[in-house]
Amino acid sequence: TIAETGSFTVRRAADAPAPSLPPFGQFIGGTFVASSSASTVDVENPATEEILTQVPAGSVEDVDAAVAAAAAAKAAWAAKTPKDRSSVLLRIADIIEANRELLETLESANTGKPAAVAEDDISSAIDTFRFSAGAARAFTTLGADDYAENHTSVIFREPVGVVGVITPWNYPLLMAAWKIAPILAAGNTLVLKPSEQTPLTTLKLAELIASEVPAGVLNIVTGSGRVVGNRISEHPDVDLVAITGSVGSGQKVAANAASTVKRVHLELGGKAPVVVFEDADLEAAAKGVREAGFWNGGQECGAACRVLVHESVADRFTDLLVREVKEISIGAPGAGEDAEIGSMISGAHYRRVLEALEDIRKDGLTIAVGGNALEGPGYFIEPTVVTDVPAGAAITSTEIFGPVVSVETFSTDEEAIARANETIYGLAASVWTTNAARSLSAPRRLDFGTVWVNSHLVIANEMPWGGFKGSGYGRDLSIYALEDFSRTKHVMYNRG
Ligand code: NAD
Repeated sequence: TIAETGSFTVRRAADAPAPSLPPFGQFIGGTFVASSSASTVDVENPATEEILTQVPAGSVEDVDAAVAAAAAAKAAWAAKTPKDRSSVLLRIADIIEANRELLETLESANTGKPAAVAEDDISSAIDTFRFSAGAARAFTTLGADDYAENHTSVIFREPVGVVGVITPWNYPLLMAAWKIAPILAAGNTLVLKPSEQTPLTTLKLAELIASEVPAGVLNIVTGSGRVVGNRISEHPDVDLVAITGSVGSGQKVAANAASTVKRVHLELGGKAPVVVFEDADLEAAAKGVREAGFWNGGQECGAACRVLVHESVADRFTDLLVREVKEISIGAPGAGEDAEIGSMISGAHYRRVLEALEDIRKDGLTIAVGGNALEGPGYFIEPTVVTDVPAGAAITSTEIFGPVVSVETFSTDEEAIARANETIYGLAASVWTTNAARSLSAPRRLDFGTVWVNSHLVIANEMPWGGFKGSGYGRDLSIYALEDFSRTKHVMYNRG
């Protein structure tokens, strides 16, 4: 049943600025070069349905050329002092900052995300490079001691070598930064494949920093997961492959990587539970879900998309949440600073989210607000809250990856924790409570890589990000990312 639909409309820009496009080609060995394939992929603006440009549909040969360039560059890059690598990363941060508006406009044009989200993405990317620049210098060899008679042991951290990276479409430049910065800080070279839908800011970054980074250290090959992603993950000269994407893609990458026993770093999907206890500040929780459930249109792996609220406060919480969600403003890029939600990333994803809403209706759940597509052009969907969700309903476990938040109720703490953990995913969760004992115990019993208390989706470059269970393994951000992109060597000296 549709209890009430919001009266949402899409604000559109009278005159959206034209994005500055990257050069055409693959970025290999420090320059843009032609692909060995003549095929191209259209890159769309999902808020207007206009084709922005084309990029090469890369080939196996393109990946091989990029891996050869990265392999040729790796010894010299690894031999640089941490201080020298650090100064390159600081220059990259400065260049992104100097080109902030250009990158924000391009990111919004390619993803349909509103200005506030694009601004946050670029600020966070700058900070990721600055953090990694500092971390490169603090990330010292682990130390030495005597463990066997007459022998001294030293543990070294070494670069892994050539790292393959595969990124998703939801935060194109930011997810690239989360990999490029620690991978370079730890002394590796890399070959990165951006999502075929959103390659533009990653290519633009390569263009902007080409003269700062030695040739071959960073290579970008555009194209599909099936061809380019597949070749990166099976290539014998790629030493580690890192993917941020869906569970299915992660499984394929890991299976492919097994043939050459390469290391794998997986950041996969999520379905973050938000546990609201009866003693919570309900207004703060409702505001928190508005921000963290609908950030980037819910196209966010840590989105606060599944609320479990204590039955005694469920009605009041739901009223507060619906009131918050009705205030959400929707806008195409360029339509103003206060737009909270933009378009879905593509026609295909828009149809997937609408099908999920159809299934929700078929399951007889209540759509308390939203639930509909908005008028085009562009792939806009209303922010939606689904209530009266029984335990075990499909919506409690399927990642919709759109502006849809579900609300279910629980009666005991035990039940809340058990149901929150009842998902294949283990990326992120939050608990909302004013009870000190609960705030200490609940996070420890939740099977998620990040647990917020009275907050959701706040991320710091100093702290690790990554999942448990089906959300993958490997950590982005923090010193843990540099560890993941390094290898450990023990050298033992016979003092005699
Ligand atoms: P996706 O899995 O469809 O694509 C991700 C990347 O993998 C793309 O570059 C794609 O081309 C590539 N790919 C697809 N099949 C491949 C294959 N067989 N071999 C190698 N590469 C392949 O995911 P998406 O739709 O771009 O992104 C959304 C998904 O990403 C969601 O599930 C979301 O939760 C997840 N995500 C996770 C995080 C995190 O930090 N854990 C962050 C952002 C997004």
